[in-house]
Amino acid sequence: MSVVNHVVNENICVISMANKPVNALSKAIRVGVIDAMTSAINNDSVEAIVITSELALFSAGADISEFSGGDLSPMLPEVLSVIENSPKPVVAAVNGGAFGGGLELALACHYRVTVKHNKVGLPEVHLGILPGAGGTQRLPRLIEPAKALQMIVSGAPTPVKSISELFVEIVDAGDLLATAIKIAKHSVGKTIPAANLIELSQSAEIEALFEQTRQQINVKMRGFFAPNKCIDAVKAAFELSFEDGLKREGELFMDCMKTPQARAQQHFFFAERAAGSLPKIAKDTPTRDIQKVAIIGAGTMGGGIAMNFANAGIPVVLLELEQVALDKGLALIRKNYENSAKKGKLSQEQVEQCMALLTGTTTYDDLSDVDLVIEAVFEKMSVKKQVFEALDKVCKPGAILASNTSTLDLDEIAASVSRPQDVIGLHFFSPANVMKLLEIVQGAKTADDVIKTAMQLAKKIKKVGVLVGVCFGFVGNRMIEVYGREANRLILEGATPERIDKLIFDFGLPMGPFTMADMAGLDIGYFVRQSRKEFIAHDPSYCTVADELVEAGRVGLKAGKGVYLYEQGSRKPISDPQVMEIANRKAKELGIKQRDISDQEIVERCIFPLINEGANILQEGIAQRSSDIDVIYVYGYGFPVYRGGPMQYADEIGLEQILARMKHYEKSLGEYGKHWFTPSPLLVELAGKNKKFAGYKA
Ligand code: NAD
Repeated sequence: MSVVNHVVNENICVISMANKPVNALSKAIRVGVIDAMTSAINNDSVEAIVITSELALFSAGADISEFSGGDLSPMLPEVLSVIENSPKPVVAAVNGGAFGGGLELALACHYRVTVKHNKVGLPEVHLGILPGAGGTQRLPRLIEPAKALQMIVSGAPTPVKSISELFVEIVDAGDLLATAIKIAKHSVGKTIPAANLIELSQSAEIEALFEQTRQQINVKMRGFFAPNKCIDAVKAAFELSFEDGLKREGELFMDCMKTPQARAQQHFFFAERAAGSLPKIAKDTPTRDIQKVAIIGAGTMGGGIAMNFANAGIPVVLLELEQVALDKGLALIRKNYENSAKKGKLSQEQVEQCMALLTGTTTYDDLSDVDLVIEAVFEKMSVKKQVFEALDKVCKPGAILASNTSTLDLDEIAASVSRPQDVIGLHFFSPANVMKLLEIVQGAKTADDVIKTAMQLAKKIKKVGVLVGVCFGFVGNRMIEVYGREANRLILEGATPERIDKLIFDFGLPMGPFTMADMAGLDIGYFVRQSRKEFIAHDPSYCTVADELVEAGRVGLKAGKGVYLYEQGSRKPISDPQVMEIANRKAKELGIKQRDISDQEIVERCIFPLINEGANILQEGIAQRSSDIDVIYVYGYGFPVYRGGPMQYADEIGLEQILARMKHYEKSLGEYGKHWFTPSPLLVELAGKNKKFAGYKA
């Protein structure tokens, strides 16, 4: 069957796109639409044309895999020009989602009809580019300019009812084709209302709209290149003729397309999709049915994790040993839901529905019917083992036993039960009901069906699951340890926390390492260091200022004081000169010479060793692919998506460069450098071959 079909019936030609799975506008479909349009235009018995889709979506837009090369002719704008300039009226019957080029195709048609509850959008900005097939010129001509601008700049899917002016009619799905044909018949012999015939003009109001949108995106989309170019393109629709506007759009599209940001964002688009695939697991592996979940420990993480399942409609039983702790945990969950309701994100009815799915218990006997248990008790091996031994006794055969441990050896936990094949790590990030990342930790004996079930479950609770292997800190925290270590060392060498935080913020992370540590609680790192003294024994400078702060009760935001000070009820960090006094004293004691450190050195020393650790992780097979590390860093730590994640960032600037700088610090930082800046063997190997992390297979 062809990817584009057309039939003529009662003088109407219906062209339908059928390029499975999502009608990506690849070359075959572009050629097919031009051929079908040409045939309809040349067929004297055809008076009007309807374009629709045979699939659930109208079209998801461009075939992004073509961006990296291939035969692009005919380009989409050529196809749209044939449609728009057709002497016979063309009606788009938008039966499902129309995104990017898919919506641009509908905009080039003379009339549109769609179905209730449908959504359409121009998501190109998420790929670091802008709609390049006339979307920025046609949309503001067809709907309110403010709405058009918002759609293009945000890339968000928009409910058709909020842009109803774009459609002649919005009907029930069953009536769509008949309505489109009716509109087509009515339009015969009438003036064709093509978007390119509409003239837009500038006004003070429009100018103000552009200015206001620019200010908004400079805050909301800080650091991104494409959103401002989107504004420039829409502005051109008001300043230039349609033809010149299209040209300008094309130039701006190319400006975006050749940036590292576009490469990074397109890399990330594929990275996110690749993360879900499990090539080492047979496709026909069955999954286990998860109807009911238990969470052990209703603390910070347990409560948040429970909310994810309740939100997905899955009943959860929470276990604490003491009723007081259980009541506290449940009350906190209710408070979180009530806060969402106050903000209008949930109705009171939804709050009650979620709460009704959550029950508490203080006895393990109540866990005999659950399909999955997630343990989120204190981070102590002896406590974890006690919990797993208790679970082994009461849980039914086939129940998945998961741990939310951040640092402990999952295989040791699994060894404490009679069914290690059912044990897996489900490492949620805090706040667990908000953060999208889920590291799925595969133990030495974890069964394939357990891994596949966990990956599927991640999607169900709206998380991005990434499979990782067992090691200290898994992928995310193992890498962040390196970053935190360098930030802490830099203050001993004379850089202030404020300066380091500002530079990392400017690099694109949501906050710098010290603000983040204060938020997470300095005590978390402290306890980890206490349990890993052998790891740092040779380096007395290791996080020594942070240790002193914790020992003085300065554990961060929750205490009102950490690296920074906080006024009651405020999360805004206030500088405290005392911290640098501690750093200066410690530096003297340790014989560390303080000096002026360049901005470049600060950023490189925080980011490059983190990348180097990523290389080790990749070589050890702890991550399946380098793009998985990028997904973990973007979703778990706010690494700017416009840099694509740390590994893509390294690939972009070149592994040779990273290696050269690692070697530089290895030498220039004396004993410290010798120990902590050893280049990863994989980095050395790939840089030597002029290769990238992308595509490396352990
Ligand atoms: P928490 O102290 O807030 O909560 C732990 C809860 O477990 C407490 O309510 C405690 O009463 C309960 N508990 C302790 N022993 C128990 C037992 N034997 N049976 C039943 N309940 C018991 O701790 P948290 O921050 O929620 O951390 C829990 C786990 O999640 C740890 O393994 C931690 O490493 C991991 N984790 C924490 C974070 C974070 O940012 N806080 C992030 C990811 C993972």
